[in-house]
Amino acid sequence: MNELNLTPTGEPGRIHGIDALTGLPGREGLLRRVNELQADSQAALICIDLDQLSALNETLGLSAGDVLLVEAAHRIAKYAKSEDYLVRYGGDKFGLLLTSQTVPSQIEQIATALIEALRHPYLIAGREVYLGASIGLAFQQSHAVAHESPDGPQLQYSLLRHAEAALARAKLTSRGSWISYAPDMNRNFSGRLNLESELYQAIELHQFLVYYQPKASCKTGEISGFEALIRWQHPEKGVILPSEFIPTLENTGLIERVGAWVLRAACQQLKDWDAFDFERLKMAVNVSLRQLNDPLFPELVATILADTGLTADRLELELTESMLMHDVIRTESQLFRLKKIGVKLSIDDFGTGYSSLAYLKRLPIDTVKVDRAFVQDITTDPDDASITRAIISMAHSLKMAVVAEGIETDAQLSTLINQHCDMVQGYFIGKPMPSHDALALLQSGWVLAASTLGRPAKTRTLLLVDDEDSILSALKRLLRREGYRILSANSGAQGLEILAANDVDVIVSDQRMPNMTGEEFLRRTKDLYPETMRLVLSGYADMESITNAINQGAIYKFMSKPWDEQLLRECIAEAFRHKEMSDENHRLTAEVASKNQELLFKNQTLARLLDEQSHQSVVGLAALSASQETLHWIPVPIVGVDSEGLIVLRNAAFAELNFQSDIASLLLPKLPAWPNGSAHQFELIDANGAGWRVVGRHLVTQKQHRGTVFAFLSINDRHE
Ligand code: C2E
Ligand code: MG
Ligand code: MG
Repeated sequence: MNELNLTPTGEPGRIHGIDALTGLPGREGLLRRVNELQADSQAALICIDLDQLSALNETLGLSAGDVLLVEAAHRIAKYAKSEDYLVRYGGDKFGLLLTSQTVPSQIEQIATALIEALRHPYLIAGREVYLGASIGLAFQQSHAVAHESPDGPQLQYSLLRHAEAALARAKLTSRGSWISYAPDMNRNFSGRLNLESELYQAIELHQFLVYYQPKASCKTGEISGFEALIRWQHPEKGVILPSEFIPTLENTGLIERVGAWVLRAACQQLKDWDAFDFERLKMAVNVSLRQLNDPLFPELVATILADTGLTADRLELELTESMLMHDVIRTESQLFRLKKIGVKLSIDDFGTGYSSLAYLKRLPIDTVKVDRAFVQDITTDPDDASITRAIISMAHSLKMAVVAEGIETDAQLSTLINQHCDMVQGYFIGKPMPSHDALALLQSGWVLAASTLGRPAKTRTLLLVDDEDSILSALKRLLRREGYRILSANSGAQGLEILAANDVDVIVSDQRMPNMTGEEFLRRTKDLYPETMRLVLSGYADMESITNAINQGAIYKFMSKPWDEQLLRECIAEAFRHKEMSDENHRLTAEVASKNQELLFKNQTLARLLDEQSHQSVVGLAALSASQETLHWIPVPIVGVDSEGLIVLRNAAFAELNFQSDIASLLLPKLPAWPNGSAHQFELIDANGAGWRVVGRHLVTQKQHRGTVFAFLSINDRHE
């Protein structure tokens, strides 16, 4: 059983519970403080939500959002006294716990002033940005106390719950203003808020688990991997399914933390199973939109892989079709960053969204998971059957593998195998199960029945056709020890029926039979089953028609009755060998064709990569010349010397300085030798007697010393 590790560093962007961006404590800190309040304390909580922050992030980028958050934190902090407590407890949410101001009218004044302060324009990247804020207020004494008795441990959350309920009401009814909590608000919001606080508790109390659902290969029948699926082991309600809590985890942003934990637990689990020789297995993990959009997500994946020692190609990240269509530009670049790490990517619930095929083609997707909705009625609804067939063939032509989800019956499985689906997942193979059951399943050597896979072991199959039973019996006796599977028919018509139901390699037919002659039967066989080897065994020969049949390829050999036993046995064995060689030829031809197709695809990918690279170097050059120009006009003197000590760069401000001696030999000895890449500071007085603080840094790329850059900061006071 996996448990959630609640080290505060597990939360991206937070170090020991402190928000790395603003330096403020988070939700845990707030809860702790609220919990410490006396039930009759006069405290009040102000919950602040910045309106439209996500829209700003979308349009100006995440760094603009970061600048704004820091500025907003400063503006709010101005209203906090030393006894008060300010937190950032969500992406765009701040909480201000006031213990110094206690009169409701004062607190309402603060709320009004905060709304005003946050409404002032923010200067971001040289432009003014306007953003409103909504506020919810709650007072400890008047509201929280009322909830004290019945629900014991839940009490600590009530002040926060009330302030959040008021905030939700403010956002809903009067954005950009504040609302104070009123008891009737809880009726609308308490269900959701209860779940939220229960989920916080679930994290703290390690109540999340990962279940594993097996996937089987349609080629080998073996388990090829698992999908990790989260479960909530609720102390009273038992195991709760993700559909009940994932949306709330997503809304609160908790999904990033819980999702990171699932990812780590699943990778570690797969690695642990390697001890039992299951290195062939892969692990699929679901990723939510919020995780995918986190710029640090690829780094998180790489770190988890490194920590657990799992190779990247054994991890498959499942992204739903609708996620991929959400913000195509951002998604595309994130997918390429993930792909660079080497992980596999798959589209989950495929067919339920409205993806554009042209768009999907551009994405580095390895696998398509056909949604359960199409599999359910695949054996009864011809539309569903053609949809799955179309998805499978489309995916294959794009070099993607296909997993069908939700297989519950043998018939659904056979249909999908016939449609050349690559992998199957569903209750028929196995339900999601705890890790120890998954290991037991693996160790039991479970495989899909060969009959379901539609590939009984290949045995040499011989069909004997003769209207005389005695001849059939004599031939069977003769060939009994050869190990063939022998089928027999008394007429050409019966022979054709047997051929329709069986995979026959060699046919030995009599020539003279009522209704259909042997020669006619073999002509038809040639058209229907051209790969079969066809022999005639006859006491009678109409030379002309036999010769024609041989010349047209309907007959491979003609042998006469009575037969030489040894010769007949050898002749039939040789026919089987011929057949096997021709089968192998077909297989190789198909393989060559598929390899050629693969090569073509790789060449196309290579061409695209080269295109991308040349585009990137154009962008890189443009960025370089822009930064050189900026450097030139920057008012701080800057000089760069190469590894030989020659000046290779100096900006306008540096040119104005009047240094008499060789600047490189003056500056370089002040720095440690080059393997040290960190910045060093020293002081210097120029020929005019001006004092400078010089910051110097060696530039090292790919372990080579490329030169040294010095920036000069004026100390202002002159050294006489
Ligand atoms: P999904 O990724 O499409 O997972 C497959 C769901 O189908 C699972 O539901 C699984 O139990 C169910 N299923 C599999 N085979 C069958 C079958 O034969 N019949 C039926 N009726 N159902 C079958 P589950 O475990 O309830 O998960 C639901 C969804 O919750 C998942 O859908 C996934 O989108 C999400 N989810 C689960 N774990 C995580 C997680 O760790 N992170 C994120 N972001 N989402 C998760
Ligand atoms: Mg999934
Ligand atoms: Mg799915």
